[in-house]
Amino acid sequence: MTALVDLAYLVAAVFFIVGLKRLSSPATARNGNLLAALGMLIAIAVTLLDQRIIGFGGIFAGLVLGSLAGAVLARTIKMTAMPQMVALLNGFGGAASVLVAGAEFLRLSEVGGSTIDVAVSVQFSILVGAVTFSGSLVAFGKLQELVSGQPVTYPLQKPLNALLLLAILTTAGYLIVTDPGSAATGVLSGVFGSGVLTPLVVLVLLSLVLGVLSVIPIGGADMPVVISLLNSYSGIAAASTGFVIDNDGLIISGALVGASGLILTQIMCKAMNRSLSNVLFGAFGATASGGGQAGLEASGGGGTVRQVSAEDAAIVLAYAREAVIVPGYGLAVSQAQHAVRELANQLESRGVNVRYAIHPVAGRMPGHMNVLLAEADVPYDQLWEMDRINPDFEHVDVVLVIGANDVVNPAARNNKSSPIYGMPILDVDRAQQVIVMKRSMNFGFAGIDNELFYNTNTSMLFGDAKASLNKLIAEVKEA
Ligand code: NAP
Repeated sequence: MTALVDLAYLVAAVFFIVGLKRLSSPATARNGNLLAALGMLIAIAVTLLDQRIIGFGGIFAGLVLGSLAGAVLARTIKMTAMPQMVALLNGFGGAASVLVAGAEFLRLSEVGGSTIDVAVSVQFSILVGAVTFSGSLVAFGKLQELVSGQPVTYPLQKPLNALLLLAILTTAGYLIVTDPGSAATGVLSGVFGSGVLTPLVVLVLLSLVLGVLSVIPIGGADMPVVISLLNSYSGIAAASTGFVIDNDGLIISGALVGASGLILTQIMCKAMNRSLSNVLFGAFGATASGGGQAGLEASGGGGTVRQVSAEDAAIVLAYAREAVIVPGYGLAVSQAQHAVRELANQLESRGVNVRYAIHPVAGRMPGHMNVLLAEADVPYDQLWEMDRINPDFEHVDVVLVIGANDVVNPAARNNKSSPIYGMPILDVDRAQQVIVMKRSMNFGFAGIDNELFYNTNTSMLFGDAKASLNKLIAEVKEA
């Protein structure tokens, strides 16, 4: 029976790995997701059938409730709210690790038989799981605007966090050296009394506080990076819990989540040209709200802005040979993915070669633009990644920037004092003509002005992206 269970976990692991591999291209991503989900179903089914943890009634009820909640959330969640949803899911993963590891620790402390490696794994799972849980809830609250998205900083923040970590490590160390089941010994037994429940609860509470304090100094706009990091933490906590309950499936899946979350975090930091420590401790975004007031200042300070009507923009597009569309966060906000596809169809039917330039951090989550355009069935071969399309821009007749701002800001190349200096951008300013579609002169995520908007080869088409695209579609038909 054990061999069969191990074999099933191995099959599940193969599904996870092949699924992850297939997630790396938009063309195979859906299938990859399905494979990984199938792997998880195998792992869950085998675990529950093998270990008979609780009665089948309970398992069935949990399965139905969980699947229902997941299906409703997946169906109703807006694409722009996906980072919040992932934050919640990470948080639940962290909480599950705390509960499983904690329950196992209490069980072992009654029946005995714990070893040092299990004791270390338990404390580690509880620490990382609780930090992930409370940190993810704060991240969710910031993104959902339930709490302020501004970085919360106060004097001695880092030393206080370090002290808290020290207290956590001391408590965890105490739980590790205390022989489970026997009366507690040592200096700390005076604080906690005998038994392990009190220090265990203290450990959970302190770790929860650390999670909150670690995430509140980070600006709401940096949350996607933090969520990716917390995602990695939830995997590490799960893998550690796998060691506690000796479950290979949990160890493998946790390690995969931990590693892929870390890699994603690194990719995002690199694409923003920021170090992880700058994201975690830099309180970036304190001025990054991009509100109306800031936008007005931008229009005053940057130079002259040329506006274009939908009619004139349509003529430029309709008579171009090469057109490149640059989608950004605003496209997602206005849900204009179907309209942009329709415009591209119109242009192609007139013989214009249309491509989409995809910046790795356009939007608010990794792969945001790919997912959005896939929703509108934009062919994958029209999506060009930044490094591949950048050398082509100087031969492009017209670039249509739709709701993108930071990812096309030449200050990242030219202005050493700019907060985004060094961030790789799409070199749209090198094209013959640029048409920028947005509602106003408001800033984007980084909260800074964009010199592209004042260039002589740039014209602004102001308005909501979807409304403007619909006007363009109508005008191109007439052209
Ligand atoms: P952006 O710099 O945030 O700019 C988006 C622009 O869209 C805004 O300037 C806004 O201007 C416009 N907009 C908003 N709603 C609109 C609507 N309904 N119609 C038309 N325009 C609209 O976006 P981005 O160029 O995509 O850059 C992404 C930024 O997010 C980068 O700075 C990146 O570092 C950061 N980031 C990304 C990720 C990720 O994983 N993708 C994660 C963390 C941070 P108006 O208000 O004037 O319309």
